[in-house]
Amino acid sequence: MTFKELNLHEDVLQGLDAMGFEKPTPIQEQSIPIVIDDHDLIGVAQTGTGKTAAFLLPILHKIASQKTEPGFINTLIISPTRELAVQIDQQLQGLAYFTGATSIPVYGGGDGDDFSQQKKALTEGADIIVGTPGKLMSHLNLGYAKIDKLQHLILDEADRMLDMGFYDDIMKIISQLPKERQTLLFSATMPPKIRKLAKDILVDPSEINIAISKPAEKVVQAAFLVYDAQKVELVKYLLRYNDIPSLVIFASTKLKVKELTRALQAEKLNAKQISSDLEQSDRESILNEFKSRKLTILVATDVISRGIDIDNIDMVVNYDVPNDAEDYIHRIGRTARASSEGEAITFINTDDQGRFQRIEQLIEKEIRKVPLPASIGEGPEYDPKKYRGGGGRKFGGKGNYKKRR
Ligand code: ADP
Ligand code: MG
Repeated sequence: MTFKELNLHEDVLQGLDAMGFEKPTPIQEQSIPIVIDDHDLIGVAQTGTGKTAAFLLPILHKIASQKTEPGFINTLIISPTRELAVQIDQQLQGLAYFTGATSIPVYGGGDGDDFSQQKKALTEGADIIVGTPGKLMSHLNLGYAKIDKLQHLILDEADRMLDMGFYDDIMKIISQLPKERQTLLFSATMPPKIRKLAKDILVDPSEINIAISKPAEKVVQAAFLVYDAQKVELVKYLLRYNDIPSLVIFASTKLKVKELTRALQAEKLNAKQISSDLEQSDRESILNEFKSRKLTILVATDVISRGIDIDNIDMVVNYDVPNDAEDYIHRIGRTARASSEGEAITFINTDDQGRFQRIEQLIEKEIRKVPLPASIGEGPEYDPKKYRGGGGRKFGGKGNYKKRR
C-alpha cells in the first residue's frame, strides 16, 4: 500500500515526500480511510507506530480538499504533555507545509508573552490547534477561542492523559465544543477507563487495534533480583564496567529519580533527571541534550516512558518493574531501533517478582536472571509465587538486606 493509493490530496503527498515517509504504517493505512469518511475512531497501537500521522494526514487531506472557514478553528488536538505536543507540532509543520493549513501550538512554560500570542491566535482562528489540557482550559475559560465551527477533535495518547489526571479538564473542554463533530481517540493501551471515556465522547466509533508486537529480538533482555537497598550500587556497578553512551533509567517515583540522580552525579557521572516537577522548558532542554547525546544518562519517571520519541538508546534500565506489562514493552522498544542492538535490564525486588512474571507471560519469554556481582552482596531468591506482590505485605527491602549481612 502506498500513500497515493490512500487517495491523499496532492499537497499532503508532497509533504510526505518532504518528510521522507515512503509508505504508511499499519495504523496509518487503516485509520486514513476511516477518518476521511468522517467516522469517529478509536486507534490503539503501541508507541512508535506512527499514530501522529495516522490522524494528521487525513485531517490535512480534508483541510486541503474542502475550504475551511477563515477565522475559525477547524481541528483541536489535545496531547498530555508539552513534549508530546511539540512532537505533534513538528510533524504537522512538515506534513502541512504544502497545504497552506495554519496551526497554533497552545502549550508553554506560561510566560505572559506566549499567552497573549496564543490568545490572539485563538481569537483570530487557525485550522489546527495543538495543545495541552491545562493550557487549553485556561484559554477556553476566557471565552474568546473561535471553536463554534470546530469539525475535528483528537485526543492523542489518551491513556497517558488519564494517567496524569486530565479526565475532568478534558470533559470540561469537550463540553464547550460543538456536538456535531468528528472525534478521534488514539492511545497506546486500552484500559477500562479509556473505554469509558470513548463511550462518553465518541459516536459509533470504528475501532482499530494493532496487536502489541513482541520486543524486537535484537533487544538483549536481562534481569537482576535485588533488594531495594542494593539498587543504587548496582546501577553504579553497571556504569563502571560498561561503556554505555546513551542510557535511560526509569524509576517509579519522583523521589527515587531524585535520589538516584544525585548518587550518580556524586560519582561524576553525566546524569540528569527529568520529572514532572521540572519546568517545561528545563524538561525540553534536558531531553534535547539527551537526544543529541551530550547527556549520557537520563533518569526519568514513568511520565516520559510512553510517547516520547528518542531513538538509539543503547540501554534501558527499569529501576523498578513497570506497573503495566505493556509499559515494559514500550520502554524496551526505545532501544534497538533501526539496525542497532539494545539492552534492557530490569531490577526486580521481592515485591515485584509476581508482576515481572506477568510481563514474561505477556511477551511469552522467560527473561534471564543474572546473578548479582559479588560486590553488591546476595540478592533475594526467585519465587514469584511466594512474592506475588501487591498484597500489602512488604518483603525484602532494606531491613532484610541488612539482616543477611
Ligand atoms: P506514536 O505516536 O505511535 O508513538 P509517532 O507518530 O510519534 O508514533 O511516530 C514515531 C516515529 O515514526 C516518528 O519519528 C515519525 O516521524 C516516524 N514515522 C511515522 N510514520 C512514518 C512513516 N509512514 N514512514 C516513516 N517514518 C514514519
Ligand atoms: Mg504519539
